[in-house]
Amino acid sequence: PGKDFQFMLRLKQPAGELPPELYRLIDDLSAQHGQGDLRATTCQCFQIHGILKGDLKTVISSIMDIGSSTVGACGDVSRNVMTTPAPFDTPEYNYAREYSKVFAQLFRPMSPAFGQIWLDGEKAATVETWAKEVAHHDVDAAMLKDTGLGIIVPDATEPIYGTRYLPRKFKIGVTVPGDNSLDIYTNDIGCVVITNDKGELEGFNVMVGGGMGRTHNKETTFARAADHMGFVPKDQIMEVMKAIVAAQRDHGNRDVRANARMKYLVHTLGIDNFKRLVESYLGFEIQPWRAMADWKYSDWMGWWEQGDGKLFYGQHVDNGRVKDEGDFRLKSALRAIVDKYNTHMIMSPTQSIIFRDVDPKDKDGIDKILADHGIKPIEEIDPNARLAMACPALPLCGLAQTEAERIMPSYIERMRALLDRMDLPGEEILMRMTGCPNGCARPYMAELAFVGDGANTYQVWLGGSPVLTRTAYPYMAKMKNDDLEKTMEPILAMFVEQRGEFEAFGDFTHRVGAEAIEKYSAAYAPG
Ligand code: SF4
Repeated sequence: PGKDFQFMLRLKQPAGELPPELYRLIDDLSAQHGQGDLRATTCQCFQIHGILKGDLKTVISSIMDIGSSTVGACGDVSRNVMTTPAPFDTPEYNYAREYSKVFAQLFRPMSPAFGQIWLDGEKAATVETWAKEVAHHDVDAAMLKDTGLGIIVPDATEPIYGTRYLPRKFKIGVTVPGDNSLDIYTNDIGCVVITNDKGELEGFNVMVGGGMGRTHNKETTFARAADHMGFVPKDQIMEVMKAIVAAQRDHGNRDVRANARMKYLVHTLGIDNFKRLVESYLGFEIQPWRAMADWKYSDWMGWWEQGDGKLFYGQHVDNGRVKDEGDFRLKSALRAIVDKYNTHMIMSPTQSIIFRDVDPKDKDGIDKILADHGIKPIEEIDPNARLAMACPALPLCGLAQTEAERIMPSYIERMRALLDRMDLPGEEILMRMTGCPNGCARPYMAELAFVGDGANTYQVWLGGSPVLTRTAYPYMAKMKNDDLEKTMEPILAMFVEQRGEFEAFGDFTHRVGAEAIEKYSAAYAPG
């Protein structure tokens, strides 16, 4: 008998949006053709695991039939464009949502090959499904018309990507000043909406060159936080976005795949030269970065007022796994809410889910459905669990060197017990874990990260910022699973002894540095 190959399918959900009919469809597909659960990812979309090869066509064509898509959720093109998931009805938040969807369509691959393979060879289907997608995501198609001479590749099926696509995957994020719920510094391009005091859009602060992936013991690969490139007025933003993509298309490293992300191009050239390279496509200069509000991080969980008389509700999902298990029946609860209230969802960039446009009179009903399905209210969830992320790793990812998603809940519990013992009750630390250095759960931005580097061992990273604006540094390699407390106790003791007023754990470890922590740990004698 032949082998049964199984696949993971990832949806493309610009701005994380998920209408109720699409949720019902993927909920059914995961039950009929997948392993029964769904996974909310770190890039604002759902993944379905465990689809058998023979079922792929059925699953993909039903997703495309409804107006959604998997095109560009993976591959060396612009991936799911991310934005803050908070559906506030303010000019800034509305611009962030609108532009993230426009950028998603602008950089959507146009080749008919996808339709030919997955939609029974119908060439016309590609154009038709693209139009369906534009309508489905409520995008202003007129904004996509300006193609930008000098940047596009003439006569190619892919006017922006040309004949070879990009050297590597490409990530775009859009947010508003102060809201770093999406890890904006980890994107190839990050755009921050800038409005005037009347709430009118002036343009965008644009940052470039972020990215997480690295390889153990290969110093030429590294995680990188994006650099501020400058301010771009709104009528130039489409050209500037295309020029940045074109710079990476033409100058990114196509010889060494491990160095192909745009972060290496920005790093090698330096931000000033990279800016000049982009300007050479444009024929005009990019203006200086505009001062804006300090960054904050929020997961937007629990109940919030949207600002238009409606509410939104953030449902925390532990490591993104939407499942039914014993009395905990999250998957059934989400379906019951969507069926009863026809609610639209927005995926959060941190593996959770937001119900938007909730009528205040439905709040109690939604709370009751969640309680009836064994889901704890947000106030009862450990803040460190809310802050944490882990990638799927074993047994689902072929690159995994060790556990992440399945072991992270126990790390949160062990860290909470240790924090209590070290006289740090209620302390909040943003922790992340991955099964390999690829960094899918963005570990290198966390205050404390565990990156799989062998069977049941982790590299420990310290010094990321609680508002996710800088990368952490590697503190030790090969920490055994059993040694979590032994490793962390001296670091926490030093933190208790030497922290500044209100200083966060990540800011403290960043300030004192690895060498001082190593020295303190070596001399540490438990009290
Ligand atoms: Fe797989 Fe590594 Fe990504 Fe985790 S970080 S999902 S182990 S590739």
